[in-house]
Amino acid sequence: MAAAVRCPICGKKVSQADPNSPFCSDRCRIMDLSNWASEKYVISEPAPANELDGSDLDDPDDGPGR
Ligand SMILES: [Zn+2]
Repeated sequence: MAAAVRCPICGKKVSQADPNSPFCSDRCRIMDLSNWASEKYVISEPAPANELDGSDLDDPDDGPGR
């Protein structure tokens, strides 16, 4: 009667009656949450805009040896 789902983290079968469903345990649930959070961080991180200024076309470190 109880349909089984698979834990998205470890792939273990979990009964849908399980309070942790669709995760097999609290640990996997938390792991999924933190995966999510870190992805969100990456997305919301501002891109460095002024790093490609064109000013390193003339790299002073690579000039003629002095
Ligand atoms: Zn799991």
